[in-house]
Amino acid sequence: MRNVVIIGSGCAGLTAAIYAARANLSPLVIRGREAGGQLTLTTLVENFPGFPKGVQGPELVDLMQRQAAEFGAEFKEGDVTRVDLSKRPFRLEMGKEIVETSTLIIASGASAKLLGLESERQLLGHGVSTCATCDGYFFRGKDVMVVGGGDTAAEDALFLTRYANRVFVVHRRDHLRASKIMAERLLRNEKVKPVWNSVVTDIMDASKGEVTGVKLKDVKTGEEKEHPCDGVFIGIGHQPNTSLFQGQLDMDEVGYLKTLDGSKTKVPGVFAAGDVQDRVYRQAVTAAGSGCMAAIDAERFLEANH
Ligand code: NAP
Repeated sequence: MRNVVIIGSGCAGLTAAIYAARANLSPLVIRGREAGGQLTLTTLVENFPGFPKGVQGPELVDLMQRQAAEFGAEFKEGDVTRVDLSKRPFRLEMGKEIVETSTLIIASGASAKLLGLESERQLLGHGVSTCATCDGYFFRGKDVMVVGGGDTAAEDALFLTRYANRVFVVHRRDHLRASKIMAERLLRNEKVKPVWNSVVTDIMDASKGEVTGVKLKDVKTGEEKEHPCDGVFIGIGHQPNTSLFQGQLDMDEVGYLKTLDGSKTKVPGVFAAGDVQDRVYRQAVTAAGSGCMAAIDAERFLEANH
């Protein structure tokens, strides 16, 4: 029986772990399928306070984890497969293993969204990727396509210019949603070729098990054409990882957990932090801040309910 279990090991979960561990609550962090969260999929983070020259995302996560461990946080590999929040202690299942806890901090984050094409699913890992920093290296000297117009797409495309010959950025509008500085950097880069007002309707060639090109549709004219490329990177945003809590916690229409009065969910003793409950800011530093709030809320809850 634990005081605090934290689901997720990104910025929010690890900051919650640091605070809960320093409050002598011996938190258990269940690291999850995408351990370390989105920062592990990025390169240089230039906007986390305290690092005037920036810090590599994976290094920042590693530092946070070591800091939490220093104060007594424990870590468990694996993923929670079922939760029962109907009574306390809360019951979590990890396959056959059961973990019981007085309080729960949900920091399960959000995962990359996909376009929903059958060919995309078939070619994922065979030329289709959601992680430029993981897979960019394989496209040295090749032509790649990035789908999306936000900061994720801009960052992915810029990263890919290190390796690729040309980087086509396909966006369904005629201007980027990305922050001004990223958008400017992107459009200044000679390797970047924007393809405006267009959506990917198919990725070829699933029968060969590799990417040879895409079908593009112009959303203004309806015109369709084929565009050869060697890889496709999907950078269209993220989906919160909340399916476990369906029917047990309140969510908005796209699945983000609803919190009130800090990090509280509608179930007393269950708190949420980071991207799983934030569809507005979604920054490393805001995730860390909300992880701190969740740990303080859990500590106060335990004090009031021991
Ligand atoms: P986002 O801002 O929601 O952008 C998603 C982009 O993908 C939009 O341009 C959207 O088009 C497009 N899109 C969505 N679904 C699509 C579909 N089915 N088909 C085609 N296009 C689709 O998401 P994000 O880029 O992941 O950024 C999320 C947050 O994280 C933002 O606050 C961002 O600033 C932050 N972030 C920051 C950094 C950084 O500072 N280095 C890096 C990454 C993310 P529309 O424009 O038409 O909606």
